[in-house]
Amino acid sequence: MDGRTPRLDPYVERYAARTHGMTASEIRALFSVADRPEVISMGGGSPFVSALPLDLVAELAAKVIADRGAQALQYMSGQGDARLRELICGVMALEGISASPDDVIVTVGSQQALDIVARIFLDPGDVVLAEAPSYVGALGAFAQYQATVVHVAMDDDGLVPEALRETLRRMTEEGRRPKFLYVVPNFHNPAGVTLADGRRDEILEICAAADVLVVEDNPYGLLGFDGTAHRALRARSTDGVIYLGSFSKIFASGIRVGWVVAPTGVKEKLIMASEATTLCPVALSQFLVAEFLAHHPWQEQVRIFRDLYRVRRDACLEALAAHFPPETSWTRPAGGFYVWVTLPPGIDAKAMLPRAIQQGRVAYVPGTGFYADGQGAGNLRLSYSLPEPERIREGVRRLGAVVAEEREL
Ligand code: PMP
Repeated sequence: MDGRTPRLDPYVERYAARTHGMTASEIRALFSVADRPEVISMGGGSPFVSALPLDLVAELAAKVIADRGAQALQYMSGQGDARLRELICGVMALEGISASPDDVIVTVGSQQALDIVARIFLDPGDVVLAEAPSYVGALGAFAQYQATVVHVAMDDDGLVPEALRETLRRMTEEGRRPKFLYVVPNFHNPAGVTLADGRRDEILEICAAADVLVVEDNPYGLLGFDGTAHRALRARSTDGVIYLGSFSKIFASGIRVGWVVAPTGVKEKLIMASEATTLCPVALSQFLVAEFLAHHPWQEQVRIFRDLYRVRRDACLEALAAHFPPETSWTRPAGGFYVWVTLPPGIDAKAMLPRAIQQGRVAYVPGTGFYADGQGAGNLRLSYSLPEPERIREGVRRLGAVVAEEREL
């Protein structure tokens, strides 16, 4: 040691200003502990891909390479495979969207779609409106382009139109206009609520009047537990809405296939931005998805996913009612992966996490990660998609004990 303070990162002065918006996840280190088998993790939002017919998927993958290997292992068009884009139109039709294959851009997961949307619209200091709370991966994508996120209140029926109106009115007074409103209308991550059908047109009208685009992010739309799909915002307005879809939750997250549909001019910019990032989406993955959609009763597979997630949701809600202190409240998701918990007053979910993992042997995501402005200390997100129902019950029981103890401290 020469007595000087060691510099943690010698490159720190060379990074672009946009990296200042990138914050390392404070909970990442804890999650390496949460991966241990004795810890029940209700943290990550991973789909239960073991429910897929893996033999069939293996057969389809082999067939893709045997029949079309020279294309599947090659670069391809930046917009994505034409056959898959046509099949995607069939998927979107289930939510009332009418689109042609030329309207669709295939992406590397909808996360890449979030990145290119942010890339083409956001300059430093631009404002994005987002629900309160909002998807952590979208907040990360917007932060990379140094945007400011302004949160708009939600309730059990999703984004509150009156709150949106009020936020826009305030911003107009300040001479500002948001670049877009980002919403997850169905089975929200992390809030677990769904935007009421009766609010959808109203929100589109408010945005149209204020000349604000809507970005509709909808990876969970077909995972409603009663089997009915809500009519998408994009089905109600083609000019005002950019729609993001994904195969991560209805097929497999590891194949990284999502898509985006946008008004014509925007579409061209998105293709250029996408080509600059990845050249083209993954050919092999796209062909595999296309085979799966074309030759397998894929809606039956979605039903299997829905049914098993419903059983897990029930296990989670029953255990919350049985084991959590009375001043706790939580949402009751009608689909998707997540329950949003509001803790008894005075308990900080982030401060509680090390104890939950180390002594309680249960993990969750603290609420602050889902806000750009420091809210959410009293909230946490539970994800019930991956653990078996018995593990969910036990995990919630353990967490209930940690919360009860915390309340007495
Ligand atoms: N949007 C939301 C709301 C999500 O929950 C997720 C995945 N957790 C994504 C986008 C990203 O999904 P993909 O795997 O398609 O990149």
